[in-house]
Amino acid sequence: MIVVMKPGATGAEIQHMVERVEGLGLRAHVIVGAERTVIAAIGSKRPEFKESLESGPGVAQVVPILAPYKVASSEVKAERTVVRAGSLSVGGKSIGVIAGPCSVENEEQILATAHAVKQAGATALRGGAYKPRTSPYSFQGLKEQGLELLKRAREATGLAVVTEVVASEDVDLVAKYADVLQIGARNMQNYRLLEAAGKSGVAVLLKRGPSATIEELLLAAEYILDAGNPNVMLCERGIRTFEAHTRFTLPLATVPYLHSKTHLPVVVDPSHGTGHTYLVADMTLASVAAGADGLILEVHPDPEKAMSDGYQTLNCQQFADIMARSRRVAAAVDREIAG
Ligand code: PEP
Ligand code: MN
Repeated sequence: MIVVMKPGATGAEIQHMVERVEGLGLRAHVIVGAERTVIAAIGSKRPEFKESLESGPGVAQVVPILAPYKVASSEVKAERTVVRAGSLSVGGKSIGVIAGPCSVENEEQILATAHAVKQAGATALRGGAYKPRTSPYSFQGLKEQGLELLKRAREATGLAVVTEVVASEDVDLVAKYADVLQIGARNMQNYRLLEAAGKSGVAVLLKRGPSATIEELLLAAEYILDAGNPNVMLCERGIRTFEAHTRFTLPLATVPYLHSKTHLPVVVDPSHGTGHTYLVADMTLASVAAGADGLILEVHPDPEKAMSDGYQTLNCQQFADIMARSRRVAAAVDREIAG
């Protein structure tokens, strides 16, 4: 249920209603909008709850939330959420661009990439220190040493750091270094990890599982939101289909569809979504045209030598060219890209 407060409801009235909701054994999420505040009351409810809450001070009405995902639903909040994490802002007019290597490999690599992507207009640096690899024999990442290198890159450039966390027991450590915790496609339905990321208070980039439906993605986001963390970005990174010409199939209708269902910002990953460097530019432009609030792109000073995902990675010049072209598409759809 949503307890919709009257436009002029006071702080005391809102607090009183939060206590009433909690008194009924429900969890209360206060969502402050530009015009009015609503309280999402989450948990199993009884028909008499609606009547009881509707009589509360400052309450305009109590309405059911029809979507299975509650706090993520645009029924609860019409205005788009803007997620801010250091230099990164995703969800406003300006499109946030997260760029960097698939994996952090060494100091020289991460610093060179960070400077180059910043120069081209990226607003955050990506780089995996903990890598979820299909084979246990593939490079698994530099782990804490990689996090230290990311910290150095942030100090050198001021770029926010986006890095993956693969296990709930690592959340506290990764959260000490990261501005944004990336939850990877393979972990989208790792519910303990989602809860731990929710409790961390650090912004989260939640990637869609390759065989997850959009409703499952939104319900995964709901775990993070329900744990008390409102700063969630959703990421379309391609799904598995019968098609073999690309590594995954990148469905861009996800962007406007999600915008119709949720207030959370939507990021697109054309690197994993295509799996081929030569396809990344056009799909980046298409993502901007489709309304993406953010982009995440793999960039490496020498992709041929990359320790993971080199075949879908841009070099620094290719990234700069894509940024220049993306700015023109962004302007055509009334958006902008920093830099
Ligand atoms: C990555 O961003 O390098 C990554 C492993 O992504 P995904 O979880 O989307 O496969
Ligand atoms: Mn990768």
